[in-house]
Amino acid sequence: MSRDFQIDDLVRENIRQLKAYSSARNEFVGEASVYLDANENPFNEPLNRYPDPLQTELKEKLAKLKLQDASNLFLGNGSDEGIDLLYRVFCEPGKDNVVIVEPTYGMYGVCAGINDVEQKKVFLNPDFNLDPRAVLDAVDAATRIIFLCAPNNPTGNAFDRELMLEIINRAPCIVVVDEAYIDFCEMPSLISLVPGRKNLVVLQTLSKAWGLAGARMGMLFAQPAIIHYLNRVKYPYNISSPNIATAIKSLDEDGQKRREWIRVILEERLRLVKELESLACVEKVYPSDANFLLVRVKNPKNIYRELMDKGIIVRDRSSVPLCDGCLRVTVGTVAENTELIEALKSREE
Ligand SMILES: *Cc1c(COP(=O)(O)O)cnc(C)c1O
Repeated sequence: MSRDFQIDDLVRENIRQLKAYSSARNEFVGEASVYLDANENPFNEPLNRYPDPLQTELKEKLAKLKLQDASNLFLGNGSDEGIDLLYRVFCEPGKDNVVIVEPTYGMYGVCAGINDVEQKKVFLNPDFNLDPRAVLDAVDAATRIIFLCAPNNPTGNAFDRELMLEIINRAPCIVVVDEAYIDFCEMPSLISLVPGRKNLVVLQTLSKAWGLAGARMGMLFAQPAIIHYLNRVKYPYNISSPNIATAIKSLDEDGQKRREWIRVILEERLRLVKELESLACVEKVYPSDANFLLVRVKNPKNIYRELMDKGIIVRDRSSVPLCDGCLRVTVGTVAENTELIEALKSREE
């Protein structure tokens, strides 16, 4: 990315001009004793109050944990909010485009459709590795964002850091690296690079390793200029106070429980690979850096249905490009994984 490149040059004109919503709570910092500014009900503490629009306390804790400055952090109602906001800040509907590396997480494409933004699709190699040349070749003057998902959903693999860096260093646009599964992966996160790379946006979430998918908490790390625009466009109170409180409680725990969950999931991932590979219906189990396995089977549609009839739900990815015959299986508890294996074994008898 050229040195004189400015984030403002990528931001939509109307967003640059936007006068953002401001509440009295934005204008006042500290603890007041009488709040008569927001037409709240004075009864039913504490839920009668609107939440902190910028989630300051939670951000400070998360930033500390991630060794980042809180000014580099945006919190969304799930990562999906961050993804949608990036479109709304950077992509002019009907004019700009994004580059999506398929097969990958569906929300990048869904948000493109919703925002009327063209998707330029580049495919991974058949071994699911990233081809930086192909990605950079797809970029044109109207490209605003490149989406990389690492480890990638649904293929399960992380990408070589050098290949991602080649894209980040050379792309004349925003590069989003979605690290939803980073805690299951041996490769280090790219968030430490955020302060030195103007165009890098890293997504993480509390939905997977933290076990808080229900609390909808997505983290977006980027330079403060990008965070500034996301804050102006988001709904003023995008994160509910129960969700903020849940996340803070989880962060205040010592992390032992979470490390144990991850240890069990990784151990079970290993066991599932071995068990699945021994089944006649399984053609290939792809290597995984995440909490799921992509498994190529004979008759994927039949197996998917049969499992569903037994109350076991997996994800049918067999119609996804490069994923012919594949089911995606999340690593569950020991008992759940055993139930899956037994169900698959019983159909072979
Ligand atoms: C599960 C997942 C997320 C998490 O999304 P949330 O909205 O934070 O729950 C993000 N990206 C990818 C690739 C995922 O698979």
